[in-house]
Amino acid sequence: MIKQDLLDFSFDELQDFCRDNNIPKFRASQIWSWMYCFGLKSFENMNNVSKISREFFNNISFISRPEISEMQKSKDGTIKWLLKLNDNSEVETVYIPQDDRGTVCLSSQVGCTLNCSFCHTGTQTLVRNLTSGEIVGQLMIVMDHLNDWPSGKNNRKVTNIVMMGMGEPLLNYDQVCKAIKIMMSEDGIAISRRRITLSTSGIIPNIEKTGIDLGVNLAISLHAVNDELRNKLVPINKKYNLENLINSCKNYPKLSNSRRITWEYVMLKDVNDNSEDAINLIKLIRGIPSKINLIPFNPWPGSFFEASTQKKIDNFAKILMCAGFASPIRKPRGQDIYAACGQLKSNSEKIRKSQINKLVPIHNF
Ligand code: SAH
Ligand code: SF4
Repeated sequence: MIKQDLLDFSFDELQDFCRDNNIPKFRASQIWSWMYCFGLKSFENMNNVSKISREFFNNISFISRPEISEMQKSKDGTIKWLLKLNDNSEVETVYIPQDDRGTVCLSSQVGCTLNCSFCHTGTQTLVRNLTSGEIVGQLMIVMDHLNDWPSGKNNRKVTNIVMMGMGEPLLNYDQVCKAIKIMMSEDGIAISRRRITLSTSGIIPNIEKTGIDLGVNLAISLHAVNDELRNKLVPINKKYNLENLINSCKNYPKLSNSRRITWEYVMLKDVNDNSEDAINLIKLIRGIPSKINLIPFNPWPGSFFEASTQKKIDNFAKILMCAGFASPIRKPRGQDIYAACGQLKSNSEKIRKSQINKLVPIHNF
């Protein structure tokens, strides 16, 4: 008999599973709480569940974690995990500690089909969707490592989640949606929708749905303000162009000054970093509650773009600020371990070998 991984269940599915196995429904609440409030990985210590029930669960199910292939710590405190999944494919997960928060960056796919020209993940050939259990499992690994259980304690280390790792979350909508609901569940990990941000390159058919189903913060990987350039940088723009993208963002549910869209804009030297681009950006998003995140380009081996100069980035930010837009410049985190935006790529044997001296591996499993 194939055992069921309980991490792949929504709460309703866990209840159905209990019912189908003639286990009283209330056991679902108990198990859910042990898994997601206390982070238990086995049934053994679930002390309000009778021994017989624990044995029964053990015979028919298990609570998984991805296998840790490698864990690296950057000198700035950022931690990156390379995680191995059941089919031996690998994804990366990053934890970024900051003064006022701790953010986990989760992957939604192995690789990405969209081939944005400045993104390392897009160069990976093997691509598949992650299951919701594999998405939640990444967060569980981080919480295990940081001793961040029980989830209800004060001073949690993981306070925020960004779907900004490998993959395009809105091309794996159902599993991503299920995973985010599990992570938001108040009887479990309980991370509020206000502290979750989903980043998309602009898969228009699922944008409004995301707002309705999940109500999380939306980030759009914009990177260019005209179709000609965006077609080159973010090729999915040929299918979902700027005009339609902006319109679907205008309709994102519950936008207000306290719930703004984040526009991500990677600063590429002499490509999209002129004053004129900044002015056109302002025109494009006028009227939409917005903040703009300027991301210095993070190079990777073989990339043919260069990062904009600091002067250009500052000038760009100044123009946006004068027009009233909050436009923080994203500080690259974990660059020394290739954990920064757009640097994730899991079958990275070559890179790891050539960069091995620069890395600070803290575990090799
Ligand atoms: N696929 C989704 C989410 C993952 S990428 C998306 O594209 O939105 C997270 C962010 O990093 C995106 O804004 C992406 O465009 C940006 N990014 C990709 N490669 C980068 C690089 N080399 N340097 C800086 N940012 C990069
Ligand atoms: Fe995929 Fe996002 Fe990278 Fe584009 S930027 S290739 S959508 S992961």
